[in-house]
Amino acid sequence: MKMVLSSDNAHKLREFREILSESGIELVSKKECGCTLEVEENGSSFAENAYLKAAAVSRDTGLPAIADDSGLCVDALDGAPGLYSARFTGSHEDSDEARNRYLLQCLAGEENRRGHYVCAICCVMPDGAVLRSEATCSGYIGYEEQGEGGFGYDPLFRPDGYERTMAELTAEEKNAISHRGAALRAFKAEWEKYYDQQ
Ligand code: IMP
Repeated sequence: MKMVLSSDNAHKLREFREILSESGIELVSKKECGCTLEVEENGSSFAENAYLKAAAVSRDTGLPAIADDSGLCVDALDGAPGLYSARFTGSHEDSDEARNRYLLQCLAGEENRRGHYVCAICCVMPDGAVLRSEATCSGYIGYEEQGEGGFGYDPLFRPDGYERTMAELTAEEKNAISHRGAALRAFKAEWEKYYDQQ
């Protein structure tokens, strides 16, 4: 079944395709189906933002649409950047490197480096059905960027149980333990139940 990913983030599209391979879902990007909607993420939770993004794109395209809203929550920063992970420096236009530099500045002198990623998934079907899932991945924020893989805060994030940062893991290793991998596997189970009832 064809499904649109409500995101312009090429890294997310790649991870979604890797994790949802063999699910029977043919995932297309917004761009591939001519959708130019920019959805305002003004919800008060990851789950709410994921719903806003999926619902708007499903309405616009008439197709099932899936979205993730995700971010990094750092304990010593009272959960920041959290919902604002993509615009932590104040601008969406800044690079991942700029956001990572800013995160290191915010944590300068701080010994508590605990944090976790969150990923909320929402899928809205044209018949109005809504499927949701959410997962986290805990770890530590390092002191310098390491690794070239992944995206976003991955060069600073060392998942629990690993000596390497998320950016030093292979795509398979990241997907096996990441917030997005876990949330999408839970979504897949919900999706199979929904599909069986049709
Ligand atoms: P969203 O597109 O509004 O959900 O923003 C998500 C932001 O959270 C991204 O731009 C990254 O900064 C961060 N983020 C989410 N997932 C990951 C991940 O898997 N690795 C690194 N950063 C992530």
